[in-house]
Amino acid sequence: MRNSGLRVILGTGGTIAGKASRPGDNVGYVAGQVKVEDLLAGVPALQGVPMEVEQVDQIDSKDMHLGVWQRLLARLAHHLAREDVSGVVVTHGTDTIEETAYLVHSVLRPSKPVVFTCAMRPATALVPDGPQNLLDAVTVAGHPQAQGVVVVCAGQVHAAEHLAKVHSYRTDAFDSGDAGPLASVEEGQLRWHHGVEGVSAQAPDNGLLQRLLQAEALPRVELVTSHAGADGGVVRAMLRAGASDTSLWPQGIVVAATGNGTVHRDLAQALSEAMAKGVRVVRATRCARGRVIPDPANPIPDSAGLSPVKARLALALALLGP
Ligand code: ASP
Repeated sequence: MRNSGLRVILGTGGTIAGKASRPGDNVGYVAGQVKVEDLLAGVPALQGVPMEVEQVDQIDSKDMHLGVWQRLLARLAHHLAREDVSGVVVTHGTDTIEETAYLVHSVLRPSKPVVFTCAMRPATALVPDGPQNLLDAVTVAGHPQAQGVVVVCAGQVHAAEHLAKVHSYRTDAFDSGDAGPLASVEEGQLRWHHGVEGVSAQAPDNGLLQRLLQAEALPRVELVTSHAGADGGVVRAMLRAGASDTSLWPQGIVVAATGNGTVHRDLAQALSEAMAKGVRVVRATRCARGRVIPDPANPIPDSAGLSPVKARLALALALLGP
């Protein structure tokens, strides 16, 4: 490999570490079984690359929760501060990789590369995709031009802000929407499509990191969808439940709105009742592509181009306090 520098590999589980009882079984497996050091040992091209390995968790990322995020953020902050580390790779399940990558991007804002990778086939598959993704991710983490939080899968490098899982089964399950991928990884070489300016590295928000590491829970932000017949009943039920049990009170609601941020009038009525009670509401679009175009006249702010799940995280972080 051309690149150099110590890379730290943090394992969190996912299908990349999944095992099935039959080798041909690509769906009936258990995620998060194989240790990350064993995954690395299965990639001969990584021999000789300076690496340190840590198992942060072994979780199916559909079950991702604050505790894993806190451990991961703490270990990332530790390793990124080390002068001898050129980049970090995180192995993760595909289901919520876009949420974890966006969280790390928002909180740590690293200038060094933090490269998430994953697989759509378990380690026991006839043709697992994890080894190539892992090799590509280690390549990107050691590349002199790589920076910030990216996700590497199926030969493409995606920025954390834009990445979304768009396919439930194909090995190239990710897409960066209108922005497109940042780069392709081809035989150990990066071919940039946007240039490195595509990933924004800023000063880390140490206050936010500390608040997050100390939080017992994230502020409750619920996700509702506008659809034909959306009558707002779910929003009113949340407000009723929250009135009798404060732990259920929604501090924020993200509405996955139709098209350019439009909301069924009956749901909009319930959301304005929630806003009148102090609940922060944000509109994202449920469309796979495009964004809600800002409209200062709309009483519900837009998500600044974030998808519903990322807007939910952004609002939770904002509610965590200054
Ligand atoms: N359920 C798995 C996970 O997210 C799916 C995957 O990794 O592809 O951990």
